[in-house]
Amino acid sequence: MVTVMTNCKDCRSHLPDLLLDDAYTTTHPEYKEHLDSCAACRTELVELRSTFALLDEWKAPELSPYFDSRLQARLREAVAAPPEGLWERAKSFLLFSTGRQLRPAVAGALAFVLLIGGGAFAGIHGITNGSATPPPQASATVNDLKILDNNVQAEQQLNQLLDDSTPSTDEGAAVLTT
Ligand SMILES: [Zn+2]
Repeated sequence: MVTVMTNCKDCRSHLPDLLLDDAYTTTHPEYKEHLDSCAACRTELVELRSTFALLDEWKAPELSPYFDSRLQARLREAVAAPPEGLWERAKSFLLFSTGRQLRPAVAGALAFVLLIGGGAFAGIHGITNGSATPPPQASATVNDLKILDNNVQAEQQLNQLLDDSTPSTDEGAAVLTT
């Protein structure tokens, strides 16, 4: 059984020779022998033959008679056209390049995305595990003082805005008090 298998493998690897060279079986009778005994390889060869016969029948479609003249005209236009700007060249590079030059940049961007994604995942993981300590909460008094401070600042800014004629804070305050 093993010998048949290896013969099949060997036979398949020589199918192109058997297909293209009619005299191959006379110079290598072992393949003819195998083909006579092995239906699978014989079918393979027959199928290959029919495929090649079909390809021989196939004719490439005729080109339009004006193809050459049109192509020449377009080439002349392209040569005569003004040189493209930097933006156009960058766009065509991005559109039509194989991307070989951009691969390091893309790899870097992907690594960056992985880093960010991995970090976010680790953070979420830590919180759901309860191992991450919650951020310290400011007490209510501190919050109130902060709000008061913000209110005072906002009032000062409003006064400055309302009093356009006085450029400095001190003068504005003096005008308001008098
Ligand atoms: Zn075989």
